[in-house]
Amino acid sequence: MRKPLVAGNWKMHMTVDQARRLIFEMVTDLQAVTEVDRVVCPPYTALAAVAELLRDTDIGVGGQNMHWEKSGAYTGEISASMLQEFCTYVILGHSERRAEFAETDEQVNRKIAAAIEQRLKPILCIGETLAENEADQTAEVVTRQLEQGLAGISLSQEDELIIAYEPVWAIGTGRAATPAGANRVIQDVIRPVLATQLGPEQAENIRILYGGSVKPENAASFFTQSDVDGALVGGASLKARDFVQIVRAAVPG
Ligand code: PEP
Repeated sequence: MRKPLVAGNWKMHMTVDQARRLIFEMVTDLQAVTEVDRVVCPPYTALAAVAELLRDTDIGVGGQNMHWEKSGAYTGEISASMLQEFCTYVILGHSERRAEFAETDEQVNRKIAAAIEQRLKPILCIGETLAENEADQTAEVVTRQLEQGLAGISLSQEDELIIAYEPVWAIGTGRAATPAGANRVIQDVIRPVLATQLGPEQAENIRILYGGSVKPENAASFFTQSDVDGALVGGASLKARDFVQIVRAAVPG
């Protein structure tokens, strides 16, 4: 049994004050839902404040990106060891980074390796664009992103990798994938590719989230799918009530 995981990607939102307020609003309700792993991923500037507020809880904190080098002349970048002071998780390869910052599968691969070396749990985002979807290239695209993103990666007993299947056309658009369609991609493509890359046992244990316009109204329809192990939530993670409702919807029935 894979424990459900719901992570909130706050993107470039929330000052430290706003972040504190959001945590105060939802921490008690989130703490009550122990059947689900809950994670919040604030912007870098709010990480310390959020990590401090959540220190005595089992709510995880994640970064939204990092550099693969340990240190050096990389103005504006953050390393895995810097994140590790505050975080357990890190989102890597988000489609916004791939599209807006030209991040390549090869760079994502280096980041995954650096995160795992630092004992961070990467949430590797993969997913096809609208054009690729319409050209029937979904399987090809997510296979390439996994094969290249995970090239040379092997996981030990203590390591954990999480995959987020996020069709790019569903992110921030209000147009979510169909739950059955997302489940099919995960079941027929993502998990089998993971089995080839990392071994069948690892593939069976890896949590695969769906992401893209998840809201309180549609969350349960994703979580009842056989292979959807939770969600990566953008917009709806900025509202305490919505995020709590989505987390509650992930409690196994
Ligand atoms: C995301 O950014 O990962 C995401 C899924 O965003 P949204 O929920 O707003 O579509």
